[in-house]
Amino acid sequence: MATHISNTQLAATQIEELKNQLTGKLIQPEDDSYEEARKLYNGMIDKRPRLIVKCSEVSDVKAAIQFGRKHSIPVAIRSGGHNGAGLGSCDDGLVIDLSPMKAIHVDAEQKTVRVEAGCTLGDIDKATHQHGLALPSGIISTTGIGGITLGGGIGYLTRKCGLTIDNLLEAEMILADGSSVIANKEQNQDLFWAIRGGGGNFGIVTSFLFQLHAIKEVYAGPMFWPLEKSREVMEFYREFTAQASNDLYGFFAFLVVPPAAPFPEDLQGKTVCGVVWNYTGPMEKAEEVFQPIREFGPPILDFVGPIPVPALQSMFDIFYPPGLQWYWRADFFEELTDEAITEFIRYGEKTPTGHSTMHLYPVDGKAHEVKSNETAWNYRNARWAEVIVGVDPDPANKEKITSWCKDYYNATHPYSAGGAYINFMMDEGQDRIKATYGNNYDRLTEIKAKYDPDNFFHVNQNIQPKAAMA
Ligand SMILES: Cc1cc2nc3c(=O)[nH]c(=O)nc-3n(C[C@H](O)[C@H](O)[C@H](O)COP(=O)(O)OP(=O)(O)OC[C@H]3O[C@@H](n4cnc5c(N)ncnc54)[C@H](O)[C@@H]3O)c2cc1C
Repeated sequence: MATHISNTQLAATQIEELKNQLTGKLIQPEDDSYEEARKLYNGMIDKRPRLIVKCSEVSDVKAAIQFGRKHSIPVAIRSGGHNGAGLGSCDDGLVIDLSPMKAIHVDAEQKTVRVEAGCTLGDIDKATHQHGLALPSGIISTTGIGGITLGGGIGYLTRKCGLTIDNLLEAEMILADGSSVIANKEQNQDLFWAIRGGGGNFGIVTSFLFQLHAIKEVYAGPMFWPLEKSREVMEFYREFTAQASNDLYGFFAFLVVPPAAPFPEDLQGKTVCGVVWNYTGPMEKAEEVFQPIREFGPPILDFVGPIPVPALQSMFDIFYPPGLQWYWRADFFEELTDEAITEFIRYGEKTPTGHSTMHLYPVDGKAHEVKSNETAWNYRNARWAEVIVGVDPDPANKEKITSWCKDYYNATHPYSAGGAYINFMMDEGQDRIKATYGNNYDRLTEIKAKYDPDNFFHVNQNIQPKAAMA
């Protein structure tokens, strides 16, 4: 039975008991490593957990869960620590930090990879690329595989290979009661359905098994156009990508050209519109595919060419180091109407700082071959996941980036499909979470009630357990 000791009352002996059970480290506020260990990727969020367990193995995860339960303290799960809302940590609680768990095993014959939950996308790319294989994931390689996968996972290979969850074959998990389970198409099918988009609500995934794809080199990179051409570019982008094969992917962006090489000096610091392309078809056809894109315009910057997948999937890492201030808003879009384009341009032109940006990520192609109720990810009819991020190194600019982000969102939201990708949301309340899961929400609350009836895992985009019927 739980002893219900409040955080401040956690006795040294109880903490010592936990420490003795761990192979990994236990970090407390008085430890030298605490300040570094509590830092999140988003510098705008400043949480002070009571305890951080740096898990080395599955038994550490179990011990931490049992400790959290026994003492009724809030528990947060951390993989890469990238979450915009800072949901990889909690004030006065226990952080179960999986980042030391980085084992990776590639089965080149089966084209699969099994990864522990502390891996970053870059760790996985490095291992799979050696075998000429790739996992569809995200665009910044320091992101954790845990959070991105459980929320869905969108990136350069989405149109060709689907979301990250569409390539998930199995997850090994520890549930809220401390038991170990496997979720896949045969075992715990309801759980397997829920974790493909339902976030960290149902248990802690300690390892994932993914399907890989034989993609080693692609024809990809950014193309920019002047701001004055934004409307033509957005209209061209809308029409051209609608008829393109799944081999062609391109996310649209308003951005400020970074003030560094390899960008030409005359463009540095200028706000532009652009598309970051990725063509995964036969290399000898690439020039032909890009001919109409290059003829339209022409672009003021064209860095599109042959590139290895890991280089593409880490291309923008250097501009987004950890610790910047981030404010996030997001939506899904089924279409880009002319009226919506007007609003996108109105706020795109006002991009407030060098790191701030708006992206429209394609979520169609192969991702549309899965039905809305086949996984928890509901928006299978959306063509784009939009994200607006106000970003800056200086905390003094918090208000500036936050208000631009909110104004942009308020102007474009009326043209959206309703909900947003949960991995792009801040703490925006239950209505937004319900709008995101739509018709899948009810089933998620039932599965939550089965696997985590006390809502032990609630530091997340929370799905509340369905109340037991009277
Ligand atoms: C710079 C940047 C670029 C991004 N680009 C993309 C992109 O291209 N595509 C995309 O899809 N998303 C992208 N994202 C969003 C990203 O998917 C989310 O921020 C995600 O939450 C990050 O995962 P993480 O493991 O690093 O986060 P953490 O902060 O460590 O965890 C976030 C949440 O995930 C859950 N969680 C994490 N690991 C586990 C686990 N093993 N078991 C159970 N629950 C777990 C927990 O609920 C936790 O609160 C980006 C984010 C950033 C900051």
